[in-house]
Amino acid sequence: MAWWSRTQGLAEQPKKSVPKGIWNKCERCSTTLYEADLEANLRVCTSCQHHFRMPTEGRIEMIVDAGSWQEHDRDLESCDPLGFRVDSKRYVDQVKGTTRKVGPGDAYRAGTATIGGLPVEVGFFVFEFMGGSMGSVVGEKIARQFERAVAHKRAAIMFSASGGARMQEGVLSLMQMAKTSAARSRLREARVPYISVLLHPTTGGVAASVAMLGDIIIAEPDALIGFAGPRVIEQTIRQQLPPGFQRSEFLLEHGMVDMVVSRKDLKATLERSLRWFERSRDPERRTGTVADDVVEIPATD
Ligand SMILES: [Zn+2]
Repeated sequence: MAWWSRTQGLAEQPKKSVPKGIWNKCERCSTTLYEADLEANLRVCTSCQHHFRMPTEGRIEMIVDAGSWQEHDRDLESCDPLGFRVDSKRYVDQVKGTTRKVGPGDAYRAGTATIGGLPVEVGFFVFEFMGGSMGSVVGEKIARQFERAVAHKRAAIMFSASGGARMQEGVLSLMQMAKTSAARSRLREARVPYISVLLHPTTGGVAASVAMLGDIIIAEPDALIGFAGPRVIEQTIRQQLPPGFQRSEFLLEHGMVDMVVSRKDLKATLERSLRWFERSRDPERRTGTVADDVVEIPATD
């Protein structure tokens, strides 16, 4: 390339730089997108419908009714029981640094809110905070969210985007898989619905526990969802995996998720699901099935 540029006399030409924050390039179709258009389209590519990652703050705004968000437990902080450090960096300092950058509340934000006027206990993994990893604070916040849902008989909704358990907390982070799953089972005993929404990526210990235990499991298109990465699985089973393995559409086809829903339809789908659960609690009004009422699977190309 260097030789070709030299002989064509192109090396001397000044490079055209794209001002940061004004343009964005779609990682799937390579279309250059005006950042304001992308934002207006809920961070979905206007050309190929690729779903870009959405910051948690924007996600909360998009899902809950305006003015209804009351956040809980934002002051919970991780301690460092193992005195963990990588090279010279201590885990406590890593948490402090990330908190300064991303905001308090560790990798999960939970609140009471309404969606379409219906009260819910809703929580969002914060992928920006150490890859949305689940340590003791995340586990505790999920458990408390579910306890509030049981106490007030409000549906629980969880949005997952996580790399899995937080290795810096060792076995305490693995324990959160059991803890959140136990809290989830109390929702079932109290007959309180739980909707799980899987975003890109939902992997590791989060995928292997509470995220896959929803009464309804919804995924955004083309999200990576799975426990171990494909390379590890291929090496273990000594077989090549089929194309699209561990993506939302593949999991829908194989019965692991109930719906694949585009971001723009997500809030309306949650509203319809919540209304169906409301009706199903009342035997007089109980008609049809969730499938009749709710399922609306967008065509995939
Ligand atoms: Zn695109």
